[in-house]
This record gives sequence, C-alpha cells and structure tokens, in this order.
Amino acid sequence: MSFIEQDKNVIAPLYGKADIEIVKGEGSYLFDSKGDKYLDFVAGIAVNALGHQNKSIKEAVVKQMDCFNHISNLYVNMPQVELGKKLLEITGFDKAFFCNSGTEANEGAIKFARKYFDRKGEANRQKIITFVNSFHGRTFAALSATGQPALRQGFGNMPGDFVHVAWNDCAALKSEVNKDTCAIMLESLAAEGGVMTLSAEMVETINSLQKEFGVLVIVDEVQAGCGRLGTFLGFEKYGLNPDLVTLAKGIGGGLPLGGVLLRQKIADELKAGDHGTTFGGNPIACAAGLAVVNQIDAALMKNVVERGAQIRTALADIKAKYSFIKEIRGEGLIVGLALDESMPVGNVVAAARAEKLMVLSAKGNVLRMLPCLNVSAAEVDEAMAKLAKAFEAVAK
Ligand SMILES: *Cc1c(COP(=O)(O)O)cnc(C)c1O
Repeated sequence: MSFIEQDKNVIAPLYGKADIEIVKGEGSYLFDSKGDKYLDFVAGIAVNALGHQNKSIKEAVVKQMDCFNHISNLYVNMPQVELGKKLLEITGFDKAFFCNSGTEANEGAIKFARKYFDRKGEANRQKIITFVNSFHGRTFAALSATGQPALRQGFGNMPGDFVHVAWNDCAALKSEVNKDTCAIMLESLAAEGGVMTLSAEMVETINSLQKEFGVLVIVDEVQAGCGRLGTFLGFEKYGLNPDLVTLAKGIGGGLPLGGVLLRQKIADELKAGDHGTTFGGNPIACAAGLAVVNQIDAALMKNVVERGAQIRTALADIKAKYSFIKEIRGEGLIVGLALDESMPVGNVVAAARAEKLMVLSAKGNVLRMLPCLNVSAAEVDEAMAKLAKAFEAVAK
C-alpha cells in the first residue's frame, strides 16, 4: 500500500493533502518517490527559511546531540541563552522566552500582556483587539484572537475579551481602544488572511493609541519575521513599536521552535512559575535557531528584496494576460496573487504542481508563494516559467 493510502488509514483527517510522496529535499527542491523534482515555493509554509538540508543547521544539530537532547527548563540551557542573546542584539528587545510553535508563542504573549496589567493593579485591562481575517494559531486563546469565525465553529466557548476589527480600518480600531484595553495584536503582514499589507495610516493609528492609552502592541511575526520581508522583523518595514513580538516558523530552520521577545517593563512584571513549557526552547531546536539567525545577514536580506522584485516583475507579465488576476500583493518573499471568483485558486495550485512547482493558497482566493530566503535568480526564473504554464493550462 502506498504511503498516500496508508496516511488516509492512519492519520486523523485534518488536512487535504497532495497525492505525492516526498522523499528528499535539497535547497529549493523536493524529490518524490517517483523520482520527480519539484521547485518548492512553499518552504514548509515559510519554515524552511534557508532551504532543505542547510549545512550549518545540520552541523549545529549534530553537535548539540553529541552533548544532550533535552534537560528541561530547570537548568540553564546554553543554546537557548546563545540564541536569546543573538535575537536581543539584532532586535533591541530586552528578554526572550522560547516555546515550540507559533500558537504557543501567541498564547505566551497574550498571557504576558494580561499578567503585566494584573501586576500593575489593572486586572480589568483584559480586552485584546485583533483583526478580521488574521491568523494567530489553533489553540484556544490564539484561536479566539484569530479573526476567522469559521475556524472556531463547533469548538464551544472561547476565551473571552477578544474583539476583531477590519484590517486597516482606523476608525473601527479607534472606537474599540480605551484605557481598559490590554493590547492590540496584529501580524506585520497578514499572510494566511490573504497577503494583506498594513496601511501607513493604520501604523500611525496604532502608534498613537499605544501612546495615548498605554495599550500594549503585540506583533505576530510568526510568518513575516526572520527576514521574510527583507528586514529581520517585518514591523521594522512599517514603523511599529511593539511591546511583545512572537516568532516561530522560519526561526527553527525546520525544527519546532517559537519565541516571544519582550520589553523590559513587561519582563519586570513576570515571576518564576507564571508560565512554562517542558519542551520550549529545546536545546537542539535552539542550536538550529542560532544557525538560522546567524545566516540572516545583509546579503540574505538583499536577496529577499531582489528576488521579491524579480517575482513581482514576472507576475506583472502574467497578470497582463488574464483578466481573472486582480492584484499582486505582499512584500519581500511573501507574495500573493489575488484571483477573482471565476478562477478557484485550488485549480492554479494543482496546475502548478503538475508543472512541478509547489505553491499554496491564502484566504480570499489568493495564490501565495513563500520561497526559501536564499532562493536564486535562476530558480525564480524557473518558477515563473512553470507558473506561466500553469496559468495557460487553467485558462484553457
Ligand atoms: C502559522 C502561523 C501561526 C501559528 O503557528 P503554528 O506553529 O502553526 O502554531 C500564528 N501566526 C501566524 C501569523 C502564522 O502564520
């Protein structure tokens, strides 16, 4: 029986999966059990920031496994300290907390924000404002924060005091924020929700509400962070000044790793025992994380900006040929192509796969591309040629 069939028998049916069996990855390529070679513009949903089989990550992981795999957070974990130091140095934040995933990072940030006000004697400040179509994860509080009601359907009561306002709707945001608000939580670029960028007015509104009401700003950099927009953290592009930042996806280079970066004023209100995790900041994951962060340098950021521009130029040519392509979206190497309802994005994803190009979708009938950050110019050319063929096939 093929693994595709076995998967249906064994694994809970929570995903729609492609009918291929991947056996190997190398850089920007994936190989399947039939010997077919795919150009990977999904990168494990923005996880494989440096492609498959990155040599430094591999070496760091093996080196750490020669010491120990795990010791718990009851003892000082040197790879965790090294990674934390590096992140604080790059970002200017004051403290780091490590966990295993994006949703846990957001749970942590939400708890830290509420605890901060509780310790300051303002326990009433619980309300957290997030955005319609945002995505913050699948555990209960992160799901409550997520601005997609369909994902909450059938799961019963959610943690309360989460309010969703429309993306880039400054007036709606202003009307919700007051001195009883705990936090405004947003992605620096709403990727799952349809590859939506922040308006300059929205950034200004958030910054002024933060000053006026002392409301905390939590930026979810799980997908857009770690260099994907051409800056280490996505919000640097737009000029936000968050109190808490969450990381995951790209930071582990393929290993499960998440994190929260905190300003000192928040760290000052936290005590031992307030929050915790057994696996969080696992030494192997942190060793891999350090190898990732050490490779996110100026040259890589230049590549992100240039390859992003190269993709957008090629997409403009494709867009000119098809009236069902509405808009090119995104920033750096989060690229979106919004389609009208006459062309279901799933058809394009399947046609691209038939051309041996992996791409994915985002909410609102948007085609999404998340190549690894070290993708080459030749690989982008190859991907765009494959995508052009996929559009020819679906438009017939
Ligand atoms: C993927 C994602 C998450 C959830 O991360 P998990 O590791 O799947 O829990 C949260 N926020 C954003 C912006 C994401 O893209």
